[in-house]
Formats: sequence, structure tokens, C-alpha cells
Amino acid sequence: HDYSKDDIRQMAKDEDVQFLRLMFTDLFGTIKNVEVPISQLEKLLDNKLMFDGSSIDGFVRIEESDMYLYPDLSTWMIFPWSSDRGKIARVICEVYTPDNKPFEGDPRNNLIRVLGDMRKAGFTDFNIGPEPEFFLFKMDDKGKPTMDLNDQGSYFDMAPMDLGENCRREIVLTLEDMGFDVEAAHHEVAPGQHEIDFKYADALHAADNIQTFKLVVKTVARKFGLYATFMPKPLTGINGSGMHLNMSLFHDKGNAFYDEKGDLQLSQTAYYFLGGLLKHARSFTAICNPTVNSYKRLVPGYEAPVYVAWSGSNRSPLIRVPSSRGLSTRLELRSVDPTANPYLAIAAVLEAGLDGLNNKMVPEESVDRNIYRMDDKERRESHITNLPDTLHNALKDLSADEVMRKAMGPHLYASFIEAKNLEYDAYRTQVSKWERDQYLEQY
Ligand code: ADP
Ligand code: MG
Ligand code: MG
Ligand code: MG
Ligand code: MG
Repeated sequence: HDYSKDDIRQMAKDEDVQFLRLMFTDLFGTIKNVEVPISQLEKLLDNKLMFDGSSIDGFVRIEESDMYLYPDLSTWMIFPWSSDRGKIARVICEVYTPDNKPFEGDPRNNLIRVLGDMRKAGFTDFNIGPEPEFFLFKMDDKGKPTMDLNDQGSYFDMAPMDLGENCRREIVLTLEDMGFDVEAAHHEVAPGQHEIDFKYADALHAADNIQTFKLVVKTVARKFGLYATFMPKPLTGINGSGMHLNMSLFHDKGNAFYDEKGDLQLSQTAYYFLGGLLKHARSFTAICNPTVNSYKRLVPGYEAPVYVAWSGSNRSPLIRVPSSRGLSTRLELRSVDPTANPYLAIAAVLEAGLDGLNNKMVPEESVDRNIYRMDDKERRESHITNLPDTLHNALKDLSADEVMRKAMGPHLYASFIEAKNLEYDAYRTQVSKWERDQYLEQY
């Protein structure tokens, strides 16, 4: 929506908004809130609202403690859940420094910057359609998640097997109240697992939507005594949760990936973009799969990608070309999981694709056979590499890629790699139950 300051004042008044929730996202993809009473509205609209950034992850430097929140009025929204004390509105903000510059440690600012490069390359929009998956666990009396799944249902199962259905329906209705265009909602393959798909949007609003989506899912689930988690692989031996990203570049004449006369009806632009995605796939994995647990999902046998390859017909590879054409012509990246910071992940894949375009990268041939049935030699002959198998290895690839440094900007790139290396070290020094079960009595 294109709201003016007056529109905002009017809506706040008409709807009896009492609190403003100012949202932005930290390095790790966590939504941060600064809540202020409605009396601060004018200050906010004048870009004069200050906060202390020194305690935010990724914002660490001391000189960055005084920060300003500039509201993006197009993201204004009143939460549908009411309290007796009036309504709460939220607005997503950009973080600015005291000298009125976009703070480069803000992932949303960074995406705005990369989208500027896209426009210089002659495109109008980078459209993103995400497919987030999540699990619903029962909560205990203290509001903590248990490991009890909410149901034993499976893909497209109907009630009464699917007990999460009421909860999911309420999530969908809430999202629609908030202006989401929900395209599909269904039970996923694993018990207790769900997917809700909403209509694609331009990159910035798609990332905002992903953040809002996670908040809504968690909030509504709680009302049903359920705990929603976007952890990629909460249970051993069961499919994990991904967040496929469908993507397309648009220019003045529509979808730049579509060409009626092209091979598979894809344009040269689509092929170069695809070439860039494949080239940088290993190095953007740390951004799209940023937790230790992400790599427990990226293993053979659970419908998650493991190899760097693409296909126009097969659903298993890293990048798939879904069959729709025309406006819906798109590439689907299947590795991403919902722990990814959406602003960083989208900036990374866009920069990778633009690099493919700049350098006319021709992708390897598509692989339409089942890659999992090939042996190492066959895969080598088809030039198929692996995705990184641990966060540690993913970070090594990220650290060696200048294009990814450009995608994140030097500040975010350095703080991300440093923080994630620390996270991996913390994991690596822990002794797990699996190790004790395996070795304690054997040796
Ligand atoms: P799948 O077949 O992989 O399960 P879904 O139907 O669940 O795919 O999701 C498809 C997603 O792709 C939706 O979010 C949809 O809005 C989005 N989409 C459709 N056209 C485009 C496009 N041109 N660019 C980006 N995303 C698109
Ligand atoms: Mg889907
Ligand atoms: Mg589908
Ligand atoms: Mg799915
Ligand atoms: Mg998909």
C-alpha cells in the first residue's frame, strides 16, 4: 500500500490504535520490536525516533548505539488480535545512523541496496514466492514446547487425522485479515508438519511478509496450545522444514525469464541467472541454511537437495523450473530453510543471479535423472558437486566468495561469518547423547 502520513494518522485514529510496534530484523533473522505508545506517532513519521542499537546482534560497534528508525509506511498494518486497551499497529522500519545514512548492518537496508543494483541492470522487480514449512508441537503447562507432535497426519491428509487443521485454518484467516493472499495451505509429508504458500511479491515485501508470517504462525499456534517451530530438522528420521524460494526477474515488458521461443520457453536472461545461482550455490548456502541444524535437513532421503544441479522436470534437484510459463515463469531454489534471514538470503541469490548475467554464465546441462541413484563417478562426469555438508564447510565457501561479500556488504559479511563461526565452535565442543550411546560402552 502507498500510505501517506495523513492516511496513517487517520487509520490510527479510526481504529483506536494505542501502541506502535516498530519492527526490524537483526543479523540472525530474528524480528526485533521497539514498542512505543501512540503519543510517539509524530516523532516516528518525522524520522526522529531513536533507539539504542548496541544490544542488537550484528549491530555491535559502540559508536552505533544511537540509531534512528525510519518507518516504511507501505508496511503499516493493524494487528487483528485486539486487547482491551486498544489496538496495536506495526510498521517495519529501516535503521539509520545519527547522520541520516542507512545503517549498513541492517539486513533490510542491504537488500534495498542490492535491489538498486538490479534496477541499474535494467529490471524493475525481483519477485519472490516463498513456501515456508513448520512443525506444530504440543505445549506444556509452562508454555514450553514438548516433543509431542500434534498429529500423525501426512501429506494432504484430511481431518480427523489432521488435528492441526483448525489451527492452520485460523492462521490462514489471520493472514488474510492482514492482507496476505494465501494460495495454498496443506499438511506436509511429516506428521505435525504444515506448509502455507502465499502469493509472490517484490523482494523487499516478500521478505517482510516472511517475517510477519512467522510471527503470525507462532502467535496463533499458542492460542491452540501448540508451539510452532521453523527449526529445519526438529526430529531425526523425519522430513525437515524448508522454505523453497520461487524467483523471477521482471522488466517493463513483464517476466524477463519467459521467452516463447527459448529452450524450455526460458529466456537467455533466465539461463544466465540460473548459471549464476549454480556457480554461487555452495557459497550462499551458509546464508540460506545458517544454523548447525540446517545441515541435518540437507541429507539424502528426505526430499531436500544435496547436490548442485537443476532440472526442468524432476522435483529433487537444488533448482527446479516449475512447469508454469508466461507471468509465472520462475526458478525454484529448494535448499533454503526458514532459519535463513530472508533479507540476506534474497540479496544473496539476487547477487548470484546478477553475477551470472554480467558474466554470461551458461549453466551446466539439466539433470533429469535421479541424482541419488548415480554413483560418484557418474556425478563427477555430469559435473555435479555437493552442497556443503556442515555449517563449517558452508562458511569456508562463503568466506572465499567476493560476490557474496558484495551481496551482504562488508559489515554484514564480516559480522555474519564471525558470529556463525562462533556458533559452529560452540556446537563442535559439545558432547552429544549420540556419541555416548555409540562409544561409552564400546571403548
Ligand atoms: P510447489 O509446486 O513447489 O509446491 P507452490 O505452488 O507451493 O509450489 O508455490 C509456488 C509459489 O511460487 C507461490 O508462492 C507463487 O505465488 C509463486 N510464484 C508464482 N509465480 C511466480 C513468479 N513469477 N515469481 C516468483 N514466484 C512466483
Ligand atoms: Mg509448495
Ligand atoms: Mg504446491
Ligand atoms: Mg513443501
Ligand atoms: Mg516447492
